[in-house]
Amino acid sequence: MSDGSSFYITTPIFYVNDVPHIGHAYTEVAADVLARWHRQRGEDTWLLTGTDEHGQKILRTATANGVTPKEWADRLVETAWKPLLKTVDIRNDDFIRTTDVRHEENAQKFLQHLFDAGHIYTGEYEGFYCVGCEEYKQPGDLVAGAGEYTGQQVCAIHSIPVELLHEKNYFFRMSTFTDQLLAMYEANPTFIQPESARNEVISFVKQGLSDLSISRSSFDWGIKVPWDDSHVVYVWFDALLNYITAAGYGQDDEKFSRLWPATHIVGKDILRFHAVIWPAMLLAAGLPVPTQVFGHGWLLVGGEKMSKSKLTGIAPNQITDVFGSDTFRYYFMRAISFGQDGSFSWEDLSARYQSELANGFGNLASRVIAMVVRYCDGEIPAGGTPRDADTAIRDTEIRVTKTADAAIDRLALHEALAAVWELVDELNGYITTQEPWALAKNPDDRERLETVLHTVVRGLGTLAVLLSPVTPQATATLWAALGGTGDVQDAQIDRAWEWTGGSHVSPLAALFPRIEAAVG
Ligand SMILES: [Zn+2]
Repeated sequence: MSDGSSFYITTPIFYVNDVPHIGHAYTEVAADVLARWHRQRGEDTWLLTGTDEHGQKILRTATANGVTPKEWADRLVETAWKPLLKTVDIRNDDFIRTTDVRHEENAQKFLQHLFDAGHIYTGEYEGFYCVGCEEYKQPGDLVAGAGEYTGQQVCAIHSIPVELLHEKNYFFRMSTFTDQLLAMYEANPTFIQPESARNEVISFVKQGLSDLSISRSSFDWGIKVPWDDSHVVYVWFDALLNYITAAGYGQDDEKFSRLWPATHIVGKDILRFHAVIWPAMLLAAGLPVPTQVFGHGWLLVGGEKMSKSKLTGIAPNQITDVFGSDTFRYYFMRAISFGQDGSFSWEDLSARYQSELANGFGNLASRVIAMVVRYCDGEIPAGGTPRDADTAIRDTEIRVTKTADAAIDRLALHEALAAVWELVDELNGYITTQEPWALAKNPDDRERLETVLHTVVRGLGTLAVLLSPVTPQATATLWAALGGTGDVQDAQIDRAWEWTGGSHVSPLAALFPRIEAAVG
């Protein structure tokens, strides 16, 4: 399949039942930063996102709103989900909807293939179903209800009562893949990350897997089972297939073999679907399993989990309208250890904006450009013989580039940014100790002044290249002011310090201007 030269990364496809909150935007940004970084290494990169549009929950929501489920999905995709990508500046290569013909037809091919190969049988199932999760629940997944549901068993995630369903369904023989999955986890220790997620999945699978009911006949909003059109495909089985139908499975073998397998970024609430059911489906079909399934943590707001199920959602544009998309992207990638839970607060966002983006990075850029304009008429000096302090900056550029690049391979986005920020801090400290404004007063110090300005311009260009995946707008502006060659998004990121540019700077407005509006 893949020869390893491509980097295919996915977000979950989002359920069109509701509108996006910052948790969805967080997942999108993480996948986008990783994709941009790999693209900037020159790799054949493909970022997929999209929407999940079938299932009983969508049907009920649409009916409650007096429209067909397809009309409901169309409305949400156009007014909420595609606009989200603009709001947080996502550079996706494709957007798949599970109602796309390319998805429905090829999902059916996949299903027929599994049926023909004997992995699917007819059975009966009775169990507790949560419409919120679109999933049958085991007794251990339920908790005692509270408030209006006191006395009933409710879903632990949704806090709503489950329904006892009895169906004649088609079943996927998932139980037969238990040992193969465990062997695969063992042989490929980074298949599930972070480590806590991996351990949880392994202990779950070690209990033995049940077969999976993969069809429903009580409603019809879904992909028809190809050999029995009185059934529609279980929405999760349908949704997971988007990762291959978007990559050309069933219709474009060349594209599919170039892209597949993928790295999946998912919230930890849907880890089992991606790390257990999905690879079992692929093993049954004789296809390669994903490269990696990475489960990120919850966003906590006021101590409570942000999710599509709770009403604590903050709309991403509440943040971007005030701070801009670069700040949104930077904040969530920097403030939260990717893979762990993290707390969002307006106070923390404002504080980091001011200290890190405005004072740390933005002010550095403004000062350097202003000094080159003032002392050298905008001409970037060639610089003279470097001293230890100048060489140290150069060494830091090389070191943080390598550290950040290696962190990206581990999906440690926060570590990559922390490494890059060492360069921000060192450049600011260098300017303070070298005092170019003092050097400028004495003509005898002219060569030294030019060396110092040369050094900080080089460092600033390296920062622009390294931060381009995270703050694409500010770095594009800075790159233009530095006279960088071409588009900063095309500058080789794993050798960021080798960036090339013109001979002049041009004036630069504040990258992260002072924000007067009170927020929160
Ligand atoms: Zn639920």
